[in-house]
Amino acid sequence: MVRAAAALPRLVNADFAGSWATERSRYALGMPLVAEVAVDVPGHDAFTWRVPDALCSEVAVGACVIAPLGRREVRGFVVRLAPPDAAPPCRAPLKDLIAVVPGVRVPNQVIALVAWGARYYRCALGEFLAAAVPASVRTGREPQPERRLVRASEIPANLTPRQRQVVASLPEGPLSWADAMALTGCSRSLLQRLVACGALRELLESPIHEVAVPVPPERHQLTEEQQAAVVAVWEACRARVSTTFLLFGVTGSGKTLVYLELAERVIAAGRQVLLLVPEIGLTPQLAARVRARIPRTAVWHSGFTDGERAEIWRTCAADGYDLVLGTRSALFAPLSRPGLIIVDEEHDPSYKQEAVPRYHARDLAVVYGQQLAVPVLLGSATPSLESVHNGRSGRYRVLKLLHRPGKATLPAAEAVDMRRERRETGAAHELSRRLLAALRETVQRGEQAIILLNRRGWSPVVSCQDCGWTAMCRRCDIALTYHRLAARWRCHYCGFSEASAAQCPLCSAALSAQGLGTEQLEALLCEAVPGLRTLRADADTTAGRQGHARLLARFAAGEADVLVGTQMVAKGLDFPRVTLVGVLHADRCLHAPDFRAAERTFQLIAQVAGRAGRGERPGLVIVQAWDPAAAPLVAALTGRFKAFYDAELALRAEYGYPPHGGLLRIVWSGRDEARVRAAAEADTAQLLGVGRDLGLTVLGPHPCALALLNERHRWHTLVKAPARATIQRLLDAVGSFARHGGVHTALDIDPQHTL
Ligand code: ADP
Ligand code: ZN
Ligand code: ZN
Repeated sequence: MVRAAAALPRLVNADFAGSWATERSRYALGMPLVAEVAVDVPGHDAFTWRVPDALCSEVAVGACVIAPLGRREVRGFVVRLAPPDAAPPCRAPLKDLIAVVPGVRVPNQVIALVAWGARYYRCALGEFLAAAVPASVRTGREPQPERRLVRASEIPANLTPRQRQVVASLPEGPLSWADAMALTGCSRSLLQRLVACGALRELLESPIHEVAVPVPPERHQLTEEQQAAVVAVWEACRARVSTTFLLFGVTGSGKTLVYLELAERVIAAGRQVLLLVPEIGLTPQLAARVRARIPRTAVWHSGFTDGERAEIWRTCAADGYDLVLGTRSALFAPLSRPGLIIVDEEHDPSYKQEAVPRYHARDLAVVYGQQLAVPVLLGSATPSLESVHNGRSGRYRVLKLLHRPGKATLPAAEAVDMRRERRETGAAHELSRRLLAALRETVQRGEQAIILLNRRGWSPVVSCQDCGWTAMCRRCDIALTYHRLAARWRCHYCGFSEASAAQCPLCSAALSAQGLGTEQLEALLCEAVPGLRTLRADADTTAGRQGHARLLARFAAGEADVLVGTQMVAKGLDFPRVTLVGVLHADRCLHAPDFRAAERTFQLIAQVAGRAGRGERPGLVIVQAWDPAAAPLVAALTGRFKAFYDAELALRAEYGYPPHGGLLRIVWSGRDEARVRAAAEADTAQLLGVGRDLGLTVLGPHPCALALLNERHRWHTLVKAPARATIQRLLDAVGSFARHGGVHTALDIDPQHTL
């Protein structure tokens, strides 16, 4: 059964936050109690057990307990304690809890937040809690040292060419054995041989260490704009009102300084701060800046092992931190006195989790602020249309930083029409004359450049010019990307890879690689500018522990003239010596079959452009495109943001897409396409029937744009509703969808993409 209904009508009601306060202390010791425990079982929110006398003093709301479920033992969190007569009626006599995991207590407010999220995003409370609390907290296990592999500093001379290639293709950071095998396609024994001959080293320890990124000390005088923003938010902190602020600050305008100033004040007042960032890649630089001012800062992200996260979690629960800086799940850090929640780069799609629970951390942060009665500060240079809309309608209070402080100015921007370039040069070069000339000048002046191409690997397609054969993933309906350094073809969707070949398997003609990826771009640049020193930042080079931080530290230290990379290089980086930013194929994603395609392109270009000229020297941005007149590009480059938001909001209104109204996406997937289709049709018909009077627009079911992923066929339906609340009413009314054998049904509320 796929549950669409809110399953906790009794627990989750209008004033649910209060109901979690049912503390052990409310009951006299010795009084019999039952515990409702959220366990990680899809479709069930909570099960009830009796609290045996022996455990009575330890069991509390938020405690982690071990309980019998059928023949298994399960772990879960107590979400409610009640006298037996208040427990839901039950046929069999209640069983006893087995044990309590010592020292774990999820704060009430986190449970209340997760309960809200579980209801809104339609997953089981225990499933959501399992995602919000590191697994090792539940098991009570101490962090285990992990075995990881790193490249030796000197590669032995006696390697075979294949071995040499494997070693060369490894990324910066230490990799787990599993990742190293997946990335290189090598067996464990082959890797063991490389360790034996000294080409790789094995690290046994993994203390929570971070690579130091050099940061200049900052104690700036706030600009007037910054001061005004700080005062407005600080007022709300002091008054304990849950205003949501949208800090709309151009790139390099000093948003981070506003966050730090506020954080310091909140902490001085005895409270704590949550600072969310979209991705691990953003944290090394920022973490150094935050720590420089707030020493008791926890950094929380997916690069840590679960055991390490558990250790941070426990320290946090023991009041060991003033500020938690982390990616989306840091929102659930067990802070006792949060006083301010900051969401940096609030527009970033990685705030949406793409697996159950499919929550949006920015949206949940706003809810959390309301529950806690603390202000929420959303910051961005390119806010999401949702937030702009909320700002215009008065739901959010807009604060603006329109200028870069000091001498820094916004960079000059130019677009290069690649169609014309090809006509004029009579060649299909990927690098325009203009960009190359600017790059040479930049390097000659001893400055640095960032070049963005949002596609990794050598080339995205490998095919035979004679018979038309194309290297396709065996599990997906997607062409394989050629990775030359690793000599492999890889699927960027499911992880499948195989050794690359030079000849067509059907006709033996030579294969040709088409299209450009970052790996090839790096080579093209080195060819075009002799002596150029490059570094590449993409998922291949930054994999592994702290890989991203290591790479950035090298770029900051001046080890390279150019940083080539995917969208990773667009975000948050602040290198004062970067004066040139180039973008290749800037309009490639503009026509993707997704209603946010224009917004994403606009944001990416405006963000990467913002990396130029952040120091004293002025910056230049050169964007190569097939259609340089495309509105999102022009808006991003000329700084005419308002025009873009006006036009895009009008379009969304016309077609009924968010932020106008609510959106629900249902994806059915399975190995047998006929069954997937039948399920999609039946469930969509059910939706149509139930939602007849709700003013819905139902699109589908159709095959998804990514119609086959990981051997699963995919169909989807999009439901547009007049308001987000209408989607909730629809799902309440549906209750649950029928069970379809062999078909998985996924509900995505407020989807971030529709591929
Ligand atoms: P944003 O987060 O908006 O991109 P940052 O906070 O990273 O901007 O600031 C960009 C640069 O400007 C940083 O190097 C920062 O030290 C500097 N800066 C910020 N505020 C000031 C200020 N008031 N005076 C001088 N320099 C500042
Ligand atoms: Zn062929
Ligand atoms: Zn695949």
